[in-house]
Amino acid sequence: MNEKFSIPQADRLVGKGPVKPMEHNEVGASTDPEEILTLLFKESGTDVYKIELQKTEEDLALIELAETAVRDYAAQYGRESFVDITSDHIHFLPDGGVFEITHGRLATGSHSTVLGEVLIDRRKDLETAITLFHELWHTLGSYQAIQITTDQKLDTYRSGFSMNSRDGAIEYFHHFDEALVGYMTQKFVNEKLAEASNFKNEITRLRDENIALDTTRQRELGDLWKLIDNLLEKNKDKFSKREEIMDLFVRAQVTGNVLPAARLIENTYGKGSFRKVSKF
Ligand SMILES: [Zn+2]
Repeated sequence: MNEKFSIPQADRLVGKGPVKPMEHNEVGASTDPEEILTLLFKESGTDVYKIELQKTEEDLALIELAETAVRDYAAQYGRESFVDITSDHIHFLPDGGVFEITHGRLATGSHSTVLGEVLIDRRKDLETAITLFHELWHTLGSYQAIQITTDQKLDTYRSGFSMNSRDGAIEYFHHFDEALVGYMTQKFVNEKLAEASNFKNEITRLRDENIALDTTRQRELGDLWKLIDNLLEKNKDKFSKREEIMDLFVRAQVTGNVLPAARLIENTYGKGSFRKVSKF
């Protein structure tokens, strides 16, 4: 376990225990939040899903490719230490498995901050590498905080730029955060995969044939660019190009410090506007 973290799966634990006992296997009896979270994390590193696929050498190489890129980029954006999401916390499922396990909530990949695990549909190599990067950018690249809610339950508090209310009922900046993950995933495809020997030819062929590659969350990213372009228009004295504002947002996602982003938005659109922007 990384000594910088009091729990293995997140940067911070917010709120005070004890928590309500969870009906989750052998951890059911404990009310100590750190103990429960450590056990949940340990459990998520085992074969918990019946339909889980045994990882091949090729699968492990894909994980390494995505994980190395996540660590490189996140370090560039100010991340200093990483939680311990090793490959045994990344579960490969047959195509359609994520949809099945999340009861239709998610399509091809998912991450859980509380469990410290990632689920990935094992599709073709290129699609799998893209989903891997996306989910690992959430869990490993982004700031993570878990909370003991006002009614003493364990829940996500912060995942990158997104935030949950202290009672766990309201989620802010969810699409905003996904747009940032979409941006970084697109960067990963263009800068790393397009140069990787095993993907270079396929990506070039797709580009030549004008076939769009799903780099995830492009609709949300389009909405975020609109906001950024407007911010740029109104802050020409502070920024010379749109990427500078995008970088400011990604930095907030990676470090957890959203104050510079909040300040920019409030100074541009007025007091109370940061909260309004949370739902685009
Ligand atoms: Zn996502």
